[in-house]
Amino acid sequence: MLAIERREYILNKLRKEGRVQVSELSKELRVSRMTIHRDLDRLVEEEERVKKVFGGAIMEGSYQPESGKCALCGKPVPTRTAVTLQTLSGQRMEACCPHCALLLIEANEEIVSGMGTDYIHERVVNLKSATYLLHPEVVVCCAPPVLCFGSEEEARKFQMGFGGKLAKLTEAKQFVTEHMTFS
Ligand SMILES: [Zn+2]
Ligand SMILES: [Zn+2]
Repeated sequence: MLAIERREYILNKLRKEGRVQVSELSKELRVSRMTIHRDLDRLVEEEERVKKVFGGAIMEGSYQPESGKCALCGKPVPTRTAVTLQTLSGQRMEACCPHCALLLIEANEEIVSGMGTDYIHERVVNLKSATYLLHPEVVVCCAPPVLCFGSEEEARKFQMGFGGKLAKLTEAKQFVTEHMTFS
């Protein structure tokens, strides 16, 4: 791969992800770290928004995933309730729980898809097809709590023990908007 192609690749990645790592790039592009450092130096000269940081580079103005922090409330993202959102332009956002994720979706038309975590199995579940349990009697992350499940059957069983109301995506979005709190 030519130097110019490498820089193009790195620039694309910066646009998408907001940040790149030298170690990762050197593996992906199969060149030495020195070479990547030189590529980054060149990009910094050419692109005003690109800045070198320890171990890599960032692009200012693009979304920078603060690994493990919710894009809405800034809380650490628990593995049990984590949600990953994807925008039209390919950027990724993390949310601490379905409560914050649904508020983000309501507020941001750019978000096209999202993957949540099934509260029972901790498996990935598509937000579009998930079943939501609104305000059960459990303390998880943000209030009022919203949990998501891959299976409606299991959500119903969970509801029998912990209360709350079952909903699909549209209704769940309405619920969080109506009960918006910044706790
Ligand atoms: Zn949050
Ligand atoms: Zn939360």
